[in-house]
Amino acid sequence: MLGFDGVSRYQFLRAMPRTYRYLIDGLNSFDMTMHTQVGKDTFENFLCLFTGEPIAETTTWWDFARYTDAFDLVWRSFENAGYRTLYTEDQPSGGAFHYQKKGFMSAPASYYSRPITMAIQNDPEIWRAGKHCVGNKPELIHHMDYVKRFFDTFPDSPLFAFAFLSKLTHDDMTDLKMADEHLLNVYREFFRLGHLNRSLLITYSDHGPRVGRIRSSFNGMVESRTPYAIFTFPKWFLEKYPDAARNLRTNTRRLTTHFETHATLQDLMYFESGGEIPIKPSKHGVSLFREIPKNRTCQDVPIPREFCLCNQRTIKAIDVNSSISKNLADQVMAAISRKINKTHCSDLKIDKILQVLNIDLTEVLSKESKSKMLFKVRLQTVPGKGIFEAMVFVASGKFESFAKTGNLGSVDIGDVIERLNMYRGQAECVHDADQRLFCYCKAPFEKDKE
Ligand SMILES: [Zn+2]
Repeated sequence: MLGFDGVSRYQFLRAMPRTYRYLIDGLNSFDMTMHTQVGKDTFENFLCLFTGEPIAETTTWWDFARYTDAFDLVWRSFENAGYRTLYTEDQPSGGAFHYQKKGFMSAPASYYSRPITMAIQNDPEIWRAGKHCVGNKPELIHHMDYVKRFFDTFPDSPLFAFAFLSKLTHDDMTDLKMADEHLLNVYREFFRLGHLNRSLLITYSDHGPRVGRIRSSFNGMVESRTPYAIFTFPKWFLEKYPDAARNLRTNTRRLTTHFETHATLQDLMYFESGGEIPIKPSKHGVSLFREIPKNRTCQDVPIPREFCLCNQRTIKAIDVNSSISKNLADQVMAAISRKINKTHCSDLKIDKILQVLNIDLTEVLSKESKSKMLFKVRLQTVPGKGIFEAMVFVASGKFESFAKTGNLGSVDIGDVIERLNMYRGQAECVHDADQRLFCYCKAPFEKDKE
């Protein structure tokens, strides 16, 4: 499994055209075109991808002060089934299970690159050729060489490898295009060596872009919810299991998430074994070897309503100076204020309302979520010029009457309020990941090492 952090499917298509064509035309891969994220950040999406559990279920028995060793990560099941495992990541402190969390007490896989990644991270000699090169190698190649040596060393063993790279795409996703030729060469080499003839290759991202200029465009808003997931099987596997191949093809045009990736990995572990399987079945995911219903909705998955892109019938922009926009912005601001850590962080107030969109929801969705209308409100706050986006759900009433009075009555603000710009250097006085999004520190603080 090779993932890049925070890349939408369309961004992958734009930045990696040669790799994409090779995957699709050369290797007959399955590109899940309606893949939707299920959590707000890497960690939440990885919980769904690797444990099959959304954050709300995990936090019923786990909290952020604990290590992540107790998670029922799918590669542990592979380990129990006799696989050797590898885990490599480029950001030791910003890693999927380490960023503002305690991480693992014991190594989560047999082959684990964290010690070397930590050792090289602060050595300026290593990065002399630029921030994306480890010595004389692109960082992507540094990690993929590790994976390649793993496959070269154990040609006859079952293997599970997880590689996840954040640095190339985290701050500026236009850098991703530098990786196209390198990744193409890696995949060609893996194919030439026969590694792809004995593997399922999953090329994926965790979620779409969360920050940056693209987020302020309409496309960016859609792309922020749509990571890519491309599944590549050996040719012989698809010939041997034509029903699975047909369902995979059909599912490329159905609503999928990383719950499905999880269920598919589980399904593959004991594929067609027929007997009792010693793993807990995926609660929310459907294996991609089975057909996903055409009429599947976000609620069926479940995809939280904040990330659902289905059934949004008409979208229109509202004058940000209108009384309805001010009413909405005030309610969003009140919700933001409730999330501020009042001990360490300044009170925020509205600097300006940047955008208000009115979205009509079709019958299907409104019946399920009890919402008739949806507003997306984006505003900037002071001090600190934080940019936030919230969704406001309205249960009943007509837009025209709201517009006339400017009063929406009681509304329901989505749990996820997104921070669309960076807050590095503003929020380090608090350590909780959720509090940081809404924090402009009152006092000067000691800059932490992250
Ligand atoms: Zn991420």
